[in-house]
Amino acid sequence: MEEKPKIAVVAMQGDYEKHLSVLRRLGADAYPARLPQEIAGADGIILPGGESTTIGKMLARYGVDDAIKQAAQAGKPVYGTCAGLILLAREIAVGTEERGGQPTLGLLDVAVARNAFGRQVDSFEAALDAPEIGTEPLRAVFIRAPYVVRTGPSVETLAVHDGKTVFVRQGAILGSAFHPELTEDDRVHRYFLSLVWGGQHS
Ligand code: GLN
Repeated sequence: MEEKPKIAVVAMQGDYEKHLSVLRRLGADAYPARLPQEIAGADGIILPGGESTTIGKMLARYGVDDAIKQAAQAGKPVYGTCAGLILLAREIAVGTEERGGQPTLGLLDVAVARNAFGRQVDSFEAALDAPEIGTEPLRAVFIRAPYVVRTGPSVETLAVHDGKTVFVRQGAILGSAFHPELTEDDRVHRYFLSLVWGGQHS
């Protein structure tokens, strides 16, 4: 690639700074995005963790929700971590700790349950088998994490923890219940950048 891939990290609330530093370390031109035109100018988009209700409201207020949908429809890779996964989901499962009905972007054909690992295990670390990412187990940090309770036919499961789906891909859309930006292991970000790279060459 002649030019560095431009990655918009949605910077409404939450832990976007850590994503920016990993992406920059990997050679991407990563920048915080708060406006629709900043999303439109990107080759790929990351929706970070944080509080999905708050982030969702701000996306709608600034029209960033439609900009992300348009980018995804144009085939640009989008990756949501934790709250970001919740916001990408088609559906939030009702009957879990949180009520369903929260508006989402609906770009990933999955249903997620919020805060689904229970209050006793607010945050934890686990080693995940994720063959698509590599043979070494992936160290994953979960913080008040959701998990995927249903996947549609075009959704591929990339990792499972305790029988629960925590990492999925549907074409160029990626979602993880965990935070890869909080570990030294940058293979998930590399994988995401490889999707961006692939898109630019197709
Ligand atoms: N519990 C948060 C939510 O439901 C997500 C937590 C996170 O992003 N680490 O929005």
